[in-house]
Amino acid sequence: MRPMIIRDDDTCYFTPIEKLEAVYGALWSQNIPVSLAVIPSQHCDVQILHREGAPYDPAIPPEYRGIPKTFLVTENRSLCAYLNAKIQQGLVEICLHGYMHTYHEFASRDAALLAAKVRDGLAILREAFPKAAIRTFIAPYDVMSPEAIRVVLEAGLSLCTAATNLPPSPDLPNLPTYHGTQLANGARLFTCDEYLFHHRDTAENCLANARARLQSAEMLIIGNHYWSFFHDWRGAAVRSDLLKAWQTFAAEAVQGRAATTFQGAPLTANP
Ligand SMILES: [Zn+2]
Repeated sequence: MRPMIIRDDDTCYFTPIEKLEAVYGALWSQNIPVSLAVIPSQHCDVQILHREGAPYDPAIPPEYRGIPKTFLVTENRSLCAYLNAKIQQGLVEICLHGYMHTYHEFASRDAALLAAKVRDGLAILREAFPKAAIRTFIAPYDVMSPEAIRVVLEAGLSLCTAATNLPPSPDLPNLPTYHGTQLANGARLFTCDEYLFHHRDTAENCLANARARLQSAEMLIIGNHYWSFFHDWRGAAVRSDLLKAWQTFAAEAVQGRAATTFQGAPLTANP
């Protein structure tokens, strides 16, 4: 069976355990692992500048949006305890998701600043999840400068990013989307260029697209945001139709694919 990695971005201080359970509980009860891209120190004053009206990042709960403060994931002790139990069961892989999740945080060209963010972010996640082997980086908004890619790989981390971020370079393979390979230094490089289930589309379209990728992708990496299924945190806008479509798809995917993680995926070295 071809491999599949389930990647969920934006777990942070604000993530409610019951939302993760609602999206992934059925998979966890079948021993299927999920790779969570965790934000070490979520900043609350973050706007999505490429969207009309520059709305606040939907990962931030409405009552915190615009506050000039950061919140460490370590401060949510019940979330950390819950995830640490999942890590020990082999059900959660922790990945580093930037540092403060500011807008296009890793599009910066300042290598020294980026290296400090990677170092400090890893330190926070290691304190939060002492038993986790944190070996993979995923950039906020999946946007990366060539300097950011270099900094991450030099830190010895593996990387999952959009194929469109990969610069032409003698050190990097020209990897198409939905592939994984092992680099010369032992780091792993994965490509994923889309989020399949997202709140800006109909549940029907999301399911159809996801089924097409289930057929075609060599290394299927299912990129989710858990908050998409509850957009926008409260009231009537909660996307139960999207959650149902995801659960339908996830049940099909585990039948047709070998579920794995970024560190567990079988890879061949890039020639
Ligand atoms: Zn994110």
